[in-house]
Amino acid sequence: MPLWQSQISSAAQFLIRQCAPLRFPIDLTKLAVKRGITQIHFRPMPCDGAIGAAADGFVVQLSSDKDQRVPCVAVDSTALSPRQRFTLAHEIGHTFFYDGARRAVRPHPNARLLESLCNQAARILLLPEFLVEREIGVGRRFNSIEMARDLASSAVVSPEVVLNRLDGIEHLKETDYALLSLRLRDGGMLITTGVCLHGGAFSTLPRPALHAPPPRWVASIVADLQSSVGVIHRSALGDGWEFASRCVPGNRAGDLVFVEIRVEMVAVRVAVD
Ligand SMILES: [Zn+2]
Repeated sequence: MPLWQSQISSAAQFLIRQCAPLRFPIDLTKLAVKRGITQIHFRPMPCDGAIGAAADGFVVQLSSDKDQRVPCVAVDSTALSPRQRFTLAHEIGHTFFYDGARRAVRPHPNARLLESLCNQAARILLLPEFLVEREIGVGRRFNSIEMARDLASSAVVSPEVVLNRLDGIEHLKETDYALLSLRLRDGGMLITTGVCLHGGAFSTLPRPALHAPPPRWVASIVADLQSSVGVIHRSALGDGWEFASRCVPGNRAGDLVFVEIRVEMVAVRVAVD
């Protein structure tokens, strides 16, 4: 893991330990207070959130219909929407790039890397490994759309956050199993928003990239990416193996779809007279 990524991962895990005991959904207020966030300003704004350093602590701004500035300790983070929770966790991630006097640390990652590191921190804070393990069950691996949904519901996060978090926990991933989430953007283009995959059959294929259309192999394995009917479709992989895939709608709005692909042995079909 590159240096910045491993540092942010350690910082997030240390914060989780400092705030123990924790359970789902994570009490982000506790984490935010520990990191010196004193106020949360809910306000209409063009982006999801922002953070600023003031004399007595950090002030986090969260996009909202209302305009209200409240002490951080007074915010029930479990009542925020999954999107606001992700943003708050992301802003907590930003505090890792300030020193004890709330001055930006040097060296500082460039803006794009910084945002990606804060997203990484948010995923770890919202879905700590020990709680994910407990939720999935001892000895079990992450291997279904239903599991992603259950985890998202327990942790009050979007299923996409679950996919991207699980992708970073190698020992919980099922071998030869891929789960993607795709969102339909204006103009009809499908964009990858979540990726969790593991195993030999996928290692030789181009890895789907976040915020980009899925690579061509996805469409060639899955019958119809936008049909979303949940029917299992089979396509040959060779040597007695096949891909078994299904697409399932991810939300009521109809702009999110899960694509699940497993590698299975071709069933021997015995002819009966
Ligand atoms: Zn940010």
